[in-house]
Amino acid sequence: MAAHLDGRIALVTGASRGIGRAIAERLGRDGAFVVVHYARDDAAAREVVATIAGAGGQAAAVRAELGTPGDIGTLFAGLERALRDAGREVALDILVNNAGIGLPATIEQVDEAGFDRVFAVNVKAPFFLTQRALPLLRDGGRIINVSSGVTRVAFPEGIAYASTKGALDAFGHSLAKHVGPRGITVNAVAPGVIDTDVNAGWLRDNPGAQATVAEWSALGRVGQPADVADAVAFLASDDARWVTAGRIDATGGARI
Ligand code: NAD
Repeated sequence: MAAHLDGRIALVTGASRGIGRAIAERLGRDGAFVVVHYARDDAAAREVVATIAGAGGQAAAVRAELGTPGDIGTLFAGLERALRDAGREVALDILVNNAGIGLPATIEQVDEAGFDRVFAVNVKAPFFLTQRALPLLRDGGRIINVSSGVTRVAFPEGIAYASTKGALDAFGHSLAKHVGPRGITVNAVAPGVIDTDVNAGWLRDNPGAQATVAEWSALGRVGQPADVADAVAFLASDDARWVTAGRIDATGGARI
């Protein structure tokens, strides 16, 4: 059966686990050829590729450590190789800037190295990755940045992290105007607290924390990676053709 993203090529960064994995698997189910970018965990990336293939889709894994010298060149060399090996045109239709790191620190605790690192991975990498992707993106393409609900609520315990996501949102707004004439849309999806490895320590095995997070939401439960992936899938689809410079808050209505 034809899927609505058949023939499209998607690059999802940080797709070996968590939200990125769920996005990669969903876009694969929707018919896209998915380039599964990852940093280090070869086995996990291979598993994502196998899961997509097992569901009848197509994918390839590409390794690159973002926020290091030469990262973007490494990623795109891998992407070109992967697409050629698969007999695909070297092109892109969907770019999902998902890879990101946190920095649990108040303003007093943030040092310059930590600040530079979180901005390098969360802002500089998506900026230059997108710059490099633009010539490959076909007209009508999609750029989706994974932001965070923390840009709209106070998050003093992660103030530098929150600042990176605000920067990412601002980047997306200006970029949307720049690439709009090519029919390319640029949007963000902003998750609330999602049950991923990043939050495992305090959330996954802690029923008290889960109850608190569930209460923050309007829907009374903790968000799952697929809750975010499905919002990304909408923005990647033709149904979202008139949505750009926008943002979907996939937070379950959390407002704290
Ligand atoms: P995660 O740590 O489970 O996954 C992050 C992914 O990014 C991993 O695959 C990791 O390898 C990759 N990555 C991190 N640093 C990298 C680097 N330097 N180079 C290459 N890859 C790198 O986290 P997640 O919870 O799935 O988060 C995914 C995105 O969602 C992030 O941008 C995060 O800020 C955002 N987000 C998460 C939550 C949440 O509660 N989990 C909430 C809001 C926003």
